[in-house]
Amino acid sequence: MKKAVFLDRDGVIIEDSGYIENIEDVKFFPFTMEVLKKLKEHYELFIVTNQSGIGRGLITEEGVERVHAYILDELRKNDIHIKELYCCPHINEDKCICKKPNPYFLLEAEKKYNIDIKNSFVIGDHPSDVEFGFSVGATGIYVLTGHGEKHLSELKHRELIFDSLKETAEWILEGNKTEN
Ligand SMILES: [Mg+2]
Ligand SMILES: [Zn+2]
Repeated sequence: MKKAVFLDRDGVIIEDSGYIENIEDVKFFPFTMEVLKKLKEHYELFIVTNQSGIGRGLITEEGVERVHAYILDELRKNDIHIKELYCCPHINEDKCICKKPNPYFLLEAEKKYNIDIKNSFVIGDHPSDVEFGFSVGATGIYVLTGHGEKHLSELKHRELIFDSLKETAEWILEGNKTEN
């Protein structure tokens, strides 16, 4: 079984610039490439993103696909291969099964790629990202980049908070994993 890191997109690997559909609006954090290069040595990498802007009609599915193709391409140029990018386009009213914190995509990855979820990590800047991880026994980690600062008070699991993906990866790679 393989361990994995499930990365939120906005506010974790790129700046949260709202609902974007143009590649000019993709801004990687300065540390993203370096950090993912290190993580990929030990973990399979996934991206899981809620893009309810599609469901709200603010951005198009094609636009989001364009942004995702660009992100994956830029990562690939740095020899970083994302196993799969999962995107939920829905709004809450759709009552879909895939919107985080629903663990649907985690369970998909577990089955499809034989991922050891209990020894995997989920990183995000919304409380729902952390819930998404903990709900199936992965370790959810909250970062203060993106919307992290803003939603900090809504967080239920407060034990694992880092400034950014950079500090999170350093901690993960040190092998400091809590037991529950
Ligand atoms: Mg986010
Ligand atoms: Zn969905």
